[in-house]
Amino acid sequence: MVTKTINENKALFECDECHLKFKDQSRAEECEAHCKEHNACKIDIINYAEK
Ligand SMILES: [Zn+2]
Repeated sequence: MVTKTINENKALFECDECHLKFKDQSRAEECEAHCKEHNACKIDIINYAEK
């Protein structure tokens, strides 16, 4: 399950598998689904991750 975190009044969604954070919940879910299936992140999803 994707974890919602609040950071500096911004909501971020964290992939529970790789712990990348996204502004967009659907991207975090997409990342997590991909991580679970392939045990790795997808490059084009990483590009949307927040630092
Ligand atoms: Zn992930």
